[in-house]
Amino acid sequence: APILVWFRKDLRLHDNLALATARENGRPVIPVYILEPKAAGTGPLGAAQAWWLHHSLVSLSTSLEEIGSRLTLRHGSAEAVLGSLIAETGATAVYWNRRYDPPGVAIDTALKETLTTHGLTVRSFSGQLLHEPSRMRTGGGTPYRVYTPFWKALDASGEPPAPLSAPISLAGPTVWPRSEDIACWTLLPQQPDWAAEFSDVWHPGEPGARKRLASFIEEGLAGYRHGRDFPARPHTSKLSPHLAFGEISPAEVWHATRGLGGRIDTEDVIHFRKELAWRDFSYHLLFHFPDLSTRNWNPRFDRFYWSGSPDFFRRWTEGRTGYPIVDAGMRELWRHGTMHNRVRMIAASFLVKDLLIDWREGERWFRDTLVDADPASNAASWQWVAGSGADAAPFFRIFNPITQGEKFDPDGDYVRRFVPELAGLDARYIHKPFEAPQAVLVEAGIRLGESYPLPIVDHRKAREIAMAAYQSLL
Ligand code: FAD
Repeated sequence: APILVWFRKDLRLHDNLALATARENGRPVIPVYILEPKAAGTGPLGAAQAWWLHHSLVSLSTSLEEIGSRLTLRHGSAEAVLGSLIAETGATAVYWNRRYDPPGVAIDTALKETLTTHGLTVRSFSGQLLHEPSRMRTGGGTPYRVYTPFWKALDASGEPPAPLSAPISLAGPTVWPRSEDIACWTLLPQQPDWAAEFSDVWHPGEPGARKRLASFIEEGLAGYRHGRDFPARPHTSKLSPHLAFGEISPAEVWHATRGLGGRIDTEDVIHFRKELAWRDFSYHLLFHFPDLSTRNWNPRFDRFYWSGSPDFFRRWTEGRTGYPIVDAGMRELWRHGTMHNRVRMIAASFLVKDLLIDWREGERWFRDTLVDADPASNAASWQWVAGSGADAAPFFRIFNPITQGEKFDPDGDYVRRFVPELAGLDARYIHKPFEAPQAVLVEAGIRLGESYPLPIVDHRKAREIAMAAYQSLL
């Protein structure tokens, strides 16, 4: 009897323990992907990720066909779809790799019970994270709330298991179940095609993920420690959407940074691994605090007075705040479905502290527009910036969008790329066009308030107002 292997956030053949174990059994394997209805807690699939998912499934389907298998696509609740596939194929076992978002965990737990009661074998495996979030505990047995001891424990618990290779063949059933046509899922944008530029930057799917990792190790990792903060430099891996869809496992990424001795400074490797561990830490927080995307970790913030207007929010989403580094980031997000980490911090801080808009609105916008949107990392990072999270940056550390821009984009290359109407402006004023003398603006062809907006708030004043709002919570 066949084994159903249910693919979820593990759209890969390499280092896929559920798939490898099913294959070892020597029984026919039926790979399945289910488009589940929107999961309650973590919200529906964002539009940018729907684009990614379409391409990633097409890629997975091709890879499976290359090894003699197929991907069966179905939509509906996991329980209903698996139930009918079991009836249609006579499968007696279902394997999957574990997911850790609370709605997903709830579905899987209930399903395991139902299927087992009906006499099926259900097996779940690890592979989405470096370490199981339930296993990481402080000496006192409680979950970690602070990153540094979490990292120390993770580092001390040894390397993740060495990654498994991809199967070179996969036996299937004599009769394949019917698969739905992915085109009918309408995951791609309709007119206008706002994702037109995504494919210039991204190659969803496992082969794209593996290429990205290889080129990062070759070209980006050396210098990561310092270079990772500069958005115009090529020192970050851009692996996050591939990791979010499980097109590559974190263990594989971890192991790829081993044995580079001499060629790459150990500090660069350690820093990179520490970032990967932030991903695990975010899942650890989400696992133990399921409301991470909807509730302040620190309830003191429940009383915060969010006075920002819908107009401010709209201008932030459109990249028209009048602060070039914020606007460049928000436009990168719209055009490419991503934003450099340093700029995410600046743009998020600006929304929460300069515009006094609830971090949850920013979290929702990012969830819809980021190709790497992740229920754990997105919520944990927003709470970190807002000051309401576990081990968060204190609220009073308010990013100054001008000095941050000057420090991390000193020549303004990043701003020029995404805010072309400022391209001709002298580097001295690129992060503060509102301070440029009229003659400089005229020479650069800029009409402030027309071709590029004046600042929607005065950062210094906004900072004072935010601090006063914060003081009232103490
Ligand atoms: P690299 O620097 O190459 O890092 C390697 C990997 O480590 C990343 O791919 C990612 O998986 C992980 N990582 C790095 N930094 C973090 C971090 N701070 N927290 C968790 N994991 C990290 N990351 C997401 O994956 N999804 C999100 O939805 C998300 N939302 C964010 C929202 C805000 C407001 C902020 C400030 C950060 C957010 N991040 C999110 C974290 C971080 O910005 C991205 O992971 C990073 O920019 C991805 O680029 P990279 O792959 O080139 O990173």
